[in-house]
Parts: sequence; structure tokens; C-alpha cells
Amino acid sequence: MLLRLLLIPLFTMSASGTKTEDGACQRHVSDCVAAAKDQARYDHYRIYNVQFDNVEQIELFQKLEEQSDSLTFIGHAREIGQKLSILVAAHRVADFADLLQTYKLQHRVLTYNFQEKIDRNMREVLPEDVDVDKYDWQHFFHLKTINGWMEHMAAKHPDRLSVLDMGSSTQGNPIKGIKLGSNPENKAIFIESGIHAREWIAPATATYIINELLNSKDKQVQNLAKNYNWFVFPCVNPDGYKYTFEHDRMWRKNRQLFGTCRGVDLNRNYPDHWNSTGSSSDPTRYDYAGPSAGSELETKRLIDFIRNNVAKEQIKTYISLHSYSQMLMFPYGYTKEHVSNYDDLQEFGKKAAAAIKAESGRDYVSGNLYETIYPSSGGSMDWAHAEAGIPIAYTFELRGPPDSQDLFILPAVEIQPTASEAFTAIRTIVEAAAEKGYYK
Ligand SMILES: [Zn+2]
Repeated sequence: MLLRLLLIPLFTMSASGTKTEDGACQRHVSDCVAAAKDQARYDHYRIYNVQFDNVEQIELFQKLEEQSDSLTFIGHAREIGQKLSILVAAHRVADFADLLQTYKLQHRVLTYNFQEKIDRNMREVLPEDVDVDKYDWQHFFHLKTINGWMEHMAAKHPDRLSVLDMGSSTQGNPIKGIKLGSNPENKAIFIESGIHAREWIAPATATYIINELLNSKDKQVQNLAKNYNWFVFPCVNPDGYKYTFEHDRMWRKNRQLFGTCRGVDLNRNYPDHWNSTGSSSDPTRYDYAGPSAGSELETKRLIDFIRNNVAKEQIKTYISLHSYSQMLMFPYGYTKEHVSNYDDLQEFGKKAAAAIKAESGRDYVSGNLYETIYPSSGGSMDWAHAEAGIPIAYTFELRGPPDSQDLFILPAVEIQPTASEAFTAIRTIVEAAAEKGYYK
């Protein structure tokens, strides 16, 4: 133990010291420092994209997902023709490749060394104490910086913008957001992002939208800022978000402790058909629904906020930002049964996807969540629509495409175009819904 304590300063000081006495760390110095800071590493982890052509293959992969925590499934094996990405730990690569060959699965290797993606991504983060004037959409930012930027913008635009605090998270971090606009006649739009910690593009997109609403020279955007009140909460899972910067870039859940493991998937924790499909009762799983419906402090904060404000502030639209897969989805997630305004939501979603296509050429698909991505229950959108009665509700999966080589590690150069696509989709939906009389 003493040896290890002594080694840390040695490594930070040495320019060429890539080797320890016990040979534990023989890579680059910075790697050793990262390891010393208790950071999860993904060296030589591979991303495979597999296709299921028969039931035997599907059952095999369902079993595989249950058995192994060395394989990170991005979704579950469900149907013939489905393609699924799986992050395979370095020590399982040979075994996994053998399975693919033995059971004749069509596949591609999308990425050979996932850590390289993370290393590049970490170089795109500005320091936590950076001046908020440096806030931009070419870098990623710590929780503290995002909160500081919102305070700064509110100080700059006190007549239009105020900072709100839903209360603290499990580990005592504030859940902050903004309200833009103060006309009590206006209907309101609520945007929630960062419920899944590792989806960094979501908070970056949320702050982009705040900035556009405040500063855009586009008349149409100025009208949206004037005619609606906007509530935007960029990081509704602050503990998880912090953890992805400090310890594990791939963390998804909150940081609640359950004996030997941590975390509830907050987007499976909402009290609407809780834990009925597409979630887990096992705390070790990435989609753990929690010990009971609405058990988590972060869930309670958001529910209380919406309940207290939905009528008073006339919240008529709820948007939840996620990544990745390029999808614009509406309720329900827990069943393929149609919501009462299914046709409208389908129409607005299709218009939004067409608007994105016209803007950037990117393909986004639209549909109800259950059929578009995969069945899942206890999501915030289902709750907002069914329980809080908010008629226009969407969950966006932002860039990249379903077979992304980056998974959730989107390069910073894609922040601006991705955020612009999301804002275009929101504008299109709001304008289409206004035409249909949703905001009367
Ligand atoms: Zn997500």
C-alpha cells in the first residue's frame, strides 16, 4: 500500500517513467495517472454489431446478456433481422468471436479499441473551473460549469431568464435548470436531459437550446422564445453525470447504493406501469428499475416539479433528450397500444424527421417508443403524458446512427450540428402542434 502511495507523485513528475517496479502499469504515463485515480478503462474493448437471423441466435444472446457483465448490450436481443451493438471486454474477445463463428452470426466489428474513443473525448472537456465566458458547443463541460453558465446567463438576462433548483440529488448535488420567459399567458415547454449520465450530447444540446432561445437572430426562434415559456433542466442525474467525468465514462444510472453495487436507471423508475417490461429488478443491471416505483430522490424531484407546475405554468410539451440512435419517439414505452393523440404525435414526429433531413441529411426515424427502439416501462415521458397529462411528449435519441462506432462517446465536433437538429425537431413539433390547437 505504501509503495502505491509513493508511486503516484513519481508518475506525475516523471516524463519517461512508464514502468512501475511491480510492472503493473507499462503504458503511457497519463494512463498510469488515470489508473491511479480509480478510473474505469476500456483498453482493447471492441464494439461488435451482430445480426440475428434465427430464434436460436436470439435465445443464445438473451442467455449471454444474463450471464455476463463483461458484455455491455446496447438494447436486448429480441427479433429476427434485428441488429444489435455489444461492447465486448478485452478478455472476452476470443470467446465472443468463437461464439459468433460457431453460431454463424452475421457481424461487423465497429471499433477495435474503445478506450481510444474515451481518451479523445476526455481531451474535449474543458477544466471544471474554466471561465463561464469560455462556454461553447465545441467542448464538453462538467456539471459545475454547466450550472455556472446558467447562473451567468441569468445574471446577463435578468428580465428573461431565471435559474431554478429542483432540490438536491442522492449525493447532494443541485438539480438546476432555467425558466425562460415570464408571460403568464404563455403555454410552457419542458425539456429534461442527462437522465442517463453517459449521454453527454444531451446536456450539451439542452444548453445549446437555451442559448439559441436567448440569442438567436432568427425571427422564428425569437417568436418561439417570446410566445412560450421554456423550462430546461440539462442534468437531471447530476451524480451520474459527475461520475462519468471522474470515474467511468460509461456510467448510466444514478449513484444510489445497494449493498455491493450502485445505481437505479432513473428512466425506468417513474411510477407508470413501473417495471412491467424492458427493465430489471437486479441492481447490478444497467436498466435496474429501483426497489419501488418512484423510489429515487432525482425521480421525486422531477415529479414534484411537474406536479407543482403543470397546471400553474400550463406545461403542454415534454421533451426528454437522450443518445444515441437518431429517433424521435412518443408514448408509450410500456405497451404498443396507441395513445389517444397517436395520429397527431405520429404526424408531428414525421414532420420533425423531415425537417432534420432537409437541414443536415441525417436520417431520424419517428414512432412510438415501444415499437421504434424497444419496449421499456417507467420512463419519464410515459409518466409525463399519462400521469401528468402533458399531451405533447417526446423522447429524442440524438446522434449517432444505430450502428455508431462511438456509442455514447460522440465527438465534440458533432455537438453543434446534433443540437441544431434537436432544436429544429422541437421547433417543428411545437409549430405543428400549435397549428392543431394544442396551445390554445
Ligand atoms: Zn438514454
